[in-house]
Amino acid sequence: MPIYEYHCDKCGIDFEYLVFGKEKPNCPSCNSKKVCKLMSVCGFVSKGGSGETVSSSAGSSCGGCAATSCATCGQ
Ligand SMILES: [Zn+2]
Repeated sequence: MPIYEYHCDKCGIDFEYLVFGKEKPNCPSCNSKKVCKLMSVCGFVSKGGSGETVSSSAGSSCGGCAATSCATCGQ
């Protein structure tokens, strides 16, 4: 199952979410729907599902996505 990383536009946190189909998560912190998916940034790339679990907390190696706006976000 794909786990994607999302960035909340409202409160600014990053969180991981297990996605089923085209479901889009709400922010777990402020419940906002203004979240954007972070794709292939910060080296967060899953290569074919090797079973490796990414359990590092958000922000450990990512500096760019903490910006005020997310470039990968189409909203
Ligand atoms: Zn939020």
